[in-house]
Amino acid sequence: QADMAMYEAKRAGRPMGVFDTHAQINPQLVSLEADLHRALPQQELELHYQGIYRAGVREVAAAEALLRWRHPDRGLVNPDEFIGLAETNGLIVPIGAWVLREACRQAAAWQAQQPGLSVNVNLSARQFWQPDLPEVVLDALNSSRLSPHLLTLEITESVLLDVPDAAQTLGALHALGVRLSLDDFGTGYSSLSYLHRLPLHGLKIDRSFIRDLGQAQGVAENIIRAVMLLAHTLNLHVTTEGIELEAQAGFVEALGGDHLQGYLLARPLPAADFERQVLTPNQSTELHVDPLKPTA
Ligand code: C2E
Ligand code: MG
Ligand code: MG
Ligand code: MG
Repeated sequence: QADMAMYEAKRAGRPMGVFDTHAQINPQLVSLEADLHRALPQQELELHYQGIYRAGVREVAAAEALLRWRHPDRGLVNPDEFIGLAETNGLIVPIGAWVLREACRQAAAWQAQQPGLSVNVNLSARQFWQPDLPEVVLDALNSSRLSPHLLTLEITESVLLDVPDAAQTLGALHALGVRLSLDDFGTGYSSLSYLHRLPLHGLKIDRSFIRDLGQAQGVAENIIRAVMLLAHTLNLHVTTEGIELEAQAGFVEALGGDHLQGYLLARPLPAADFERQVLTPNQSTELHVDPLKPTA
């Protein structure tokens, strides 16, 4: 029953939020929602950036923009706590437009320091189905002067439940020259049949598969191997999310994965920290060692 409600909500592109499955109001979420209306005008939103690295050489190739809400009382709020609300009440549309502009502006500014660095921006289902999405994306590109091929839009499989309509939007975005990537691959209602018909550049294997590496039956290993083979057969780039351990990175690299993302390589960081720690590797790490701490 609850599964069905979630399925219907996903189909309609509206996640569960203020109302739970029993249609009761959650007061905590109601107050958070009231605050969310002020977040954008009060400039409480910010983007953090997580490096995406080329496998093998481990050089940074891209930055994924990840939204954070600096709430005056609650501190830093993660997207999982408010994106669902923003989708339900539609605020994700103006917020998403801001994310696109800000991420493109930042990526353009970083070109001097790191030529060719691209930026990944997450699109929610609600945003994806706005008829003016291609114009919003074009506007972000024009105002930042970022090359379109340096912008990758990440969408989840759920938007592809309606393949014919999604194909039209994807085609319009593709025509702008931006890249399209399927996020959290393997967790949605995957239909392999669409993969070769849509103008996709790559897919990101969900971190749950990486997390399950090393378990007795080797199921995650086999899934990752199969997805990688399928993706490469279809000329799609493969990014693996949630790499926390060297063994996980090594496994993916041995299979020929293209990009790595995860805490092992870099955590999501505020722009200034990303610039210092990811774009300009420390010449002398000693500078950051606490002098009071004994060194091994
Ligand atoms: P996502 O797009 O799949 O982003 C990856 C999430 O995994 C991020 O969580 C990131 O911090 C986390 N992560 C990265 N590496 C590791 C790791 O090694 N281990 C673990 N345990 N986690 C890792 P975050 O920043 O909390 O974002 C959660 C989700 O919120 C994102 O998942 C994305 O779906 C959504 N989101 C974030 N920013 C935006 C945005 O600007 N717009 C929209 N529509 N959604 C966003
Ligand atoms: Mg993503
Ligand atoms: Mg993901
Ligand atoms: Mg995710």
